[in-house]
Amino acid sequence: MKKKILVVDDEEGLRLLYKEELEDEGALVTLAASGAEALERLEEDSFDLILLDIKMPGMDGVEVLRRIKEKWSDVPVILCTAYPHYKHDFGTWASDAYVVKSSDLGELKKTINEVLSR
Ligand SMILES: [Mg+2]
Repeated sequence: MKKKILVVDDEEGLRLLYKEELEDEGALVTLAASGAEALERLEEDSFDLILLDIKMPGMDGVEVLRRIKEKWSDVPVILCTAYPHYKHDFGTWASDAYVVKSSDLGELKKTINEVLSR
């Protein structure tokens, strides 16, 4: 059974990169360009994992995470950001893992596999 991953990021290039790389690993990837779109996708479908960007215009990732945990508390969320200092932000404590963005997706893939095998 393929794992269904929802990727939420405002940068199109990153969304497409994640989709290509994660589908190469055998996942089924759905993309959302904003927090609002992510919540819509969650209403329509179920996912095994959510990859969530923090810095997005409109609803930021910390707010999206709060809403996800209210309604879909059993879906693991990995927060992604270019800024390591968010690790200390209390709003991010509710995420299941935290990854600093890098052009090398090795750490991200490792974290995804770890979270999915819990
Ligand atoms: Mg962003």
